[in-house]
Amino acid sequence: MRLFECATLVPGCQWHTRADEESEVVRRAVEHMRQAHGETIIRENMVDNIKARIREEDRAA
Ligand SMILES: [Zn+2]
Repeated sequence: MRLFECATLVPGCQWHTRADEESEVVRRAVEHMRQAHGETIIRENMVDNIKARIREEDRAA
């Protein structure tokens, strides 16, 4: 699972999402950014910023 925590971009925000596919995590994160934090902070490099902060969530096999 891939995990993105909004607080890595927006300090104090408790929102997070996880999904099997990185692209799905990015999609949800961008949607959250628009809805919760406003269009103004969406920049061309937002997707890169999100991707850079997605981490693999370890699961015991
Ligand atoms: Zn947020």
